[in-house]
Amino acid sequence: MVIATINPTTGAVEREFAPHTPEQVEQILARADAANAVLRRTTFAERAAWMRRAAELLDADLEQAAALASTEMGKTLGTAKYEVTKSANGMRWYADHAEEYLAAEEPVPAASVGASAARVVYQPIGTVLAVMPWNYPYWQVIRFAAPALMAGNTGLLKHASSVPQTALYLGELFERAGFPAGAFQTLLIEGAAASALIQDRRIRAVTLTGSVGAGAAVAEAAGRNIKKSVLELGGTDAFVVLPSADVAKSAEAGAASRTQNSGQSCICAKRFYVHDDVYDEWFALFLERMRATTAGDPFDPATGFGPMATEQVRADAHELVADAIAKGATVHTGGELPGGPGWLYPATVLTDVTPEMRIFREECFGPVACVYRVGSLEEAVELANDSEFGLAASVWTTDAEEIARLQDELEFGAVFANGNSASFFGLPFGGVKDSGYGRELGAFGIREFVNVKTAWTA
Ligand code: NAP
Repeated sequence: MVIATINPTTGAVEREFAPHTPEQVEQILARADAANAVLRRTTFAERAAWMRRAAELLDADLEQAAALASTEMGKTLGTAKYEVTKSANGMRWYADHAEEYLAAEEPVPAASVGASAARVVYQPIGTVLAVMPWNYPYWQVIRFAAPALMAGNTGLLKHASSVPQTALYLGELFERAGFPAGAFQTLLIEGAAASALIQDRRIRAVTLTGSVGAGAAVAEAAGRNIKKSVLELGGTDAFVVLPSADVAKSAEAGAASRTQNSGQSCICAKRFYVHDDVYDEWFALFLERMRATTAGDPFDPATGFGPMATEQVRADAHELVADAIAKGATVHTGGELPGGPGWLYPATVLTDVTPEMRIFREECFGPVACVYRVGSLEEAVELANDSEFGLAASVWTTDAEEIARLQDELEFGAVFANGNSASFFGLPFGGVKDSGYGRELGAFGIREFVNVKTAWTA
């Protein structure tokens, strides 16, 4: 994997970077270790002040930071700006809430455990390695970095090889804001090298957002070295529409979800289960929206979504589509590789998708929707749950009992009713099954990488 900015709109290599040498990696680890000794003794108030300053710096850099994301991975400038602003606000969220999330607790009366005092305190665990993907190159990193630093941990970022300039920018942001030197640094190394690094005694835990294969490699290394890991992996998210749903709103939301970020989001709706009673009306509207959402230059405000991030990601998505078509799927729009430079791929809608087709079970990281007709809520639940993945689901019905059943019975880390799946600062985010384990965001996210210490006094 070359560490380089390859513009997905043009296909041109804009900048290449040599990976850090073993000596440079050693220096970075030593700096992190030294920073850790300092950071863990700082107060929440000090860290919150630095975190707010980092958010201000990011806000001030909005234009160039967003343009960098559009250039490195192809998202539209408007969505890149939204992501940068969300990241800055996420930093403020943890500046405001970390102390409350990590406040000492007294889970039982001290006397009941024979003590004069029995408390639980949350303490930093040290340096955490974060292996991150390119799809939300700011937000994925910040939703790890903000809670980690606020908890008093130091962070090492191994970002995707396709977004090195974003990685270097983020590797300097926190020091610029006043955090101790070495508190958060970027390592320019390849994926395999990141797994190997986990055995270093100075790294205490690892978090990875990415594919199942990379997650398994990191979890294996973490397990062998008795280190905690959090995995945020793929998803083939279900989108269920039942007869009482607002048909027009759900069709529009479904198309927006499937094409957001050029379909390269773990929580994009990917499998659509639509009840027979509303299927024809819903499908016509959905198809219209998908056809109207076109791929193009990410810097043109008229563009619906930008090119796919890399040539490989586009090839992988098209391979799944071609396999489905060869095995009898019906293509209603899209499905063909466009000519011309860059990695554009059209919004694509498939029906008649069967279990023999790879896309029936595999995650398609592109703007490709598979739509299925279902006869009942029970059938929708059964099909939605028949998946190796379980990240998030979106369900559309105005019947409160159906909402309650769906939120109970669907095997996902989150079930959103009458809204698209999304991440919120104060709510946990993560999956079950092959979508990973552990949670990010909210109180759950910040408590993943702390020493939950019992402090008992006779
Ligand atoms: P990927 O290939 O797994 O890459 C993600 C990160 O893992 C990159 O930094 C990559 O480095 C690194 N990596 C690759 N192989 C590794 C290994 N053997 N050991 C350690 N690190 C390794 O994933 P992707 O294709 O870029 O991203 C798409 C996947 O991420 C999809 O499956 C998507 O659903 C998932 N995702 C999940 C979430 C979530 O929150 N659950 C969010 C976004 C994306 P290199 O770039 O150097 O290879």
